[in-house]
Amino acid sequence: MTDYSKYSFWLETSGADLSPRPQLAGSAEADVVVLGAGYTGLWTAYYLLKANPDLKVTVIEKEIVGFGASGRNGGWCSSKFPVTPATLEHRYGREAARSLMLAMNGSVDEVASVCEEERIDAQFHKGGILTLARGEHHMPMLRSAFEAYSRLGLDQQYRLCSASEAQEHVRVTNVCGALYASENASLHPGLLVCGLARALEKRGGLIYEHTEVLDFEGGTSPRLLTSSGEIRARHAIVLAGESYLTRLAKLHRAVLPVYSLITLTEPLTVAQWAQIGWQNRESLASCNYTVDYLTRTADGRILFGSRGAPYRLGSKISDEQDRHAKTHAHIQQLLLEWFPMLRGVKFTHAWGGPVGMPRDWMPMTEFDPATRIATARGYTGQGVSTTNLTGRILAEMISGKRTELSQLPIAQRRSPNWEREPLRWLAVRYMQNAYQRIDEAGRQGKRKPKDAPLAEFLGKH
Ligand SMILES: Cc1cc2nc3c(=O)[nH]c(=O)nc-3n(C[C@H](O)[C@H](O)[C@H](O)COP(=O)(O)OP(=O)(O)OC[C@H]3O[C@@H](n4cnc5c(N)ncnc54)[C@H](O)[C@@H]3O)c2cc1C
Repeated sequence: MTDYSKYSFWLETSGADLSPRPQLAGSAEADVVVLGAGYTGLWTAYYLLKANPDLKVTVIEKEIVGFGASGRNGGWCSSKFPVTPATLEHRYGREAARSLMLAMNGSVDEVASVCEEERIDAQFHKGGILTLARGEHHMPMLRSAFEAYSRLGLDQQYRLCSASEAQEHVRVTNVCGALYASENASLHPGLLVCGLARALEKRGGLIYEHTEVLDFEGGTSPRLLTSSGEIRARHAIVLAGESYLTRLAKLHRAVLPVYSLITLTEPLTVAQWAQIGWQNRESLASCNYTVDYLTRTADGRILFGSRGAPYRLGSKISDEQDRHAKTHAHIQQLLLEWFPMLRGVKFTHAWGGPVGMPRDWMPMTEFDPATRIATARGYTGQGVSTTNLTGRILAEMISGKRTELSQLPIAQRRSPNWEREPLRWLAVRYMQNAYQRIDEAGRQGKRKPKDAPLAEFLGKH
């Protein structure tokens, strides 16, 4: 028996017993069949059932509910979209970019309101996000982000802070300023994903676990072929496996799995919190390319997450990649750099998981009425609230409804495939290495490496 509690602190403290639900056995049929019991699959199924209580909806999961990124993430339920507001404006125009930003705000509140309606205590806390400039080299990024939000008429939700204003929120070393964004929350990912599964089952949804989808076919009678039987759908199948979709031959190049790793401290003492501040539990980040995200958990620990574990040839995903000793040691060292007063603190948990990177960095939702295949994916590590939005969009599209949601630039689009190997490996490893060198130079107050413009260009294209 797999001990699923070892995959993250969130699964360990989800309150669920984590023993698998029954497997699919033999042939079955439903109106809508969903691959994947993470947030995307569960939100889609939930909204389908909420709008059509008689619908038969079945979710098929290879492991257990929340096994993927949904049970392992950093707990940011944020209105931050994977593509910057400036790029959105450039690609889709001001109005479409603004609508998408507002829809993201709405998704944060929608997650809270479903939690309330379904009595899911996911420790939802709306403390905002504080993005810190750790060095003068970060300041231009914060200013240009603030200008982009202002152009979209969203400046009321954002505030540029001086170094001393930032220190009033939280005492972190080397801070020159910050951007505060109010419309953001943090939550307990494990409580959310397990609670959503229960809410779905209460509404009549079925979940089979320990059932791997090996292939899928679209058409008038679309179906999933699994390790223990075949399940047909009368209306649609939904592919909601995010980075794990790369394991299906037909979707191998659809997204790129990049590992994000997390380390967690023991609960801090009252005296330690008094030194740090951070009383409003904002989600914290800096402007580093290698990404850092911090959460003050409801039980008083610091969660520090970052990228950096190397991409493996052929988009490999394996348990052993969740623990990359060098990256975890580096993250612990970063935490002590941010908060030197915590020297000697104990780290109690370390885990990680793959995030799905689309080739154009833009999440997608798609339903093809001809093949009856629906999918949503490519959240680039920002899916806690985005999956709520894509779940609502997919549910609408499958039900044949059209509202303003299905007009958003995220709807009915598809990202191009990634390059074939070994080109993919070469390019991704180069980018990972370049980003590390750029951040390191910034940290040491040195000039950016000569190839920084190339890496920055590739990172946007
Ligand atoms: C370490 C980490 C930190 C993150 N931090 C944040 C954060 O703080 N905020 C944020 O917004 N986002 C964050 N993310 C990203 C966010 O968690 C994801 O975008 C989101 O959970 C994606 O949900 P999903 O349902 O699409 O995918 P997943 O949660 O990965 O679920 C996919 C499910 O499908 C199942 N599956 C896949 N293939 C098959 C198959 N063939 N047969 C059957 N089942 C299958 C998997 O087992 C899995 O359970 C983070 C991700 C990671 C890994």
